[in-house]
Amino acid sequence: MALTYTPVDDIPQIVQELRATFKSGLTKPLNYRREQLKGLFNLLDENEELFRESTFKDLHKPPAETLLGEILTVKQECHEAIKNLEKWAAKQPIKTGLVNKMDGVHIRKDPLGMVLIIGAWNYPTNLLLAPAVGAIAAGNTVVLKPSEVSSHTAALITRLLPKYLDSRSYRIINGAATETTVLLEHKFDHIFYTGSGNIGKIIMGAAAKQLTPVTLELGGKSPAFISKEVDLTIAARRIAFGKYFNCGQTCIAPDYVIIERGSEDELITQINAAILEFYTAAPQTSDSYGRIVNKNHFHRLKSILDKTQGKVVTGGDTQEDDLYIAPTVVLGVKPEDSLMEAELFGPILPIMVVDSIDEGIDYVNDHDQPLALYVFSKSSKVTDHILDNTRSGGVLVNDTLTHFLVPGLPFGGTGPSGIGNYHGQRSFDVFSHERSTLVKSLGMEKVNDLKYPPYTEKKISWAAWALFDKAKYSANAANPGANGSDSKL
Ligand code: NAD
Repeated sequence: MALTYTPVDDIPQIVQELRATFKSGLTKPLNYRREQLKGLFNLLDENEELFRESTFKDLHKPPAETLLGEILTVKQECHEAIKNLEKWAAKQPIKTGLVNKMDGVHIRKDPLGMVLIIGAWNYPTNLLLAPAVGAIAAGNTVVLKPSEVSSHTAALITRLLPKYLDSRSYRIINGAATETTVLLEHKFDHIFYTGSGNIGKIIMGAAAKQLTPVTLELGGKSPAFISKEVDLTIAARRIAFGKYFNCGQTCIAPDYVIIERGSEDELITQINAAILEFYTAAPQTSDSYGRIVNKNHFHRLKSILDKTQGKVVTGGDTQEDDLYIAPTVVLGVKPEDSLMEAELFGPILPIMVVDSIDEGIDYVNDHDQPLALYVFSKSSKVTDHILDNTRSGGVLVNDTLTHFLVPGLPFGGTGPSGIGNYHGQRSFDVFSHERSTLVKSLGMEKVNDLKYPPYTEKKISWAAWALFDKAKYSANAANPGANGSDSKL
């Protein structure tokens, strides 16, 4: 299915229509939002086979990986949003003091308006539609911009979306840099972008011109610490799963391993056993093993692998016309190695051997904060030491990838690995404005007299008493018992 780019001249009209729809209030009633979420759920539910085919064409993605990593996860997000919509959208009451006892004090969850979601190619359904769940649930109109790199899935979603969702409120714009650049000239109320940090800077720059808030879901080199007391068979299986799922093209794939000296040979033996079990001795013929998305990325990875000073102990074979890179492990990788320069985003696992966990912590802290940080350890002392002394978007102890699947856990990066997070209720909140609301009672005018001029000592003293708790806000409260007496306001 060829992907037709949206003519740039059509973009202003589409944006205007969505803006007008939002203004009309169509997307605000909860019933409307719920119906649209059900539509999105059905879109995925009724076309599972088509999605498996399209992602196979785009990425040679094994059908099971499409099901787990794309379809079921977004359906779960839809389900959570439908089930909890009323609760998430409800006014949130705020506890007040004496002075507001007769008033209404709450936070409204208002839709932001018209929002833009820009997806990435590696999970072309999930990364476009999972944020859309939050945007729809929160009552916005939405422009969806799929990644043109996974063109078959982009074309499929473009064809299906108008059949399941209201085109007055949700539209797709297809294209590459040119179309996206034109799109970004328009004013949105929020931009949600998933992709590389380099393009993230362009997106944020364009958003800054309009003071549009952004969520940036970026990448980075996510380390996996392996402590020597852990069961290496289990650690190896779980790392191999996370590294070779979608052929390593996962933003939270364990990018490299940090292991204490002495355990590395056993780890490699166990990773080899896991690769053999998961993908057979000939992974190229395995139905469970994917491919690199295109020639550019294939050559990028091959060139990094060719330059490594480490020892390729597993895999290493490549075939350009099949975009195949074998599940690969490289031992003895030093900090200055080609494999350690940037996020790998492919099925190559460098193993860095350290003399102590602290050496690994220092290495991680000398580099950009990663999107995920993995720890394999039986010891909570070791785990806490690593977590207390590092930073990362998220953490998963004794497994890889699966923290992404927990709807209650906000997913996102920190620093260069991203801004903001989503999933579950956080997705709803990202696309909502928390509007602080105070509804004053029209009674009690005598109490209000205290704030009106002419000011007198007495009035001010009563107003201070009503507004602030003297004990809490006295100078001595910050240093209780300093001189044993209450100070005056
Ligand atoms: P990509 O090439 O699909 O680009 C992302 C989006 O940016 C696409 O929709 C593309 O059309 C658009 N784009 C490209 N050039 C542009 C330009 N000049 N101006 C405006 N828009 C432009 O994806 P990618 O960037 O190769 O994605 C891979 C990266 O994304 C990796 O670093 C990965 O870690 C990260 N990623 C992060 C997450 C996450 O959830 N944090 C998920 C997936 C991927």
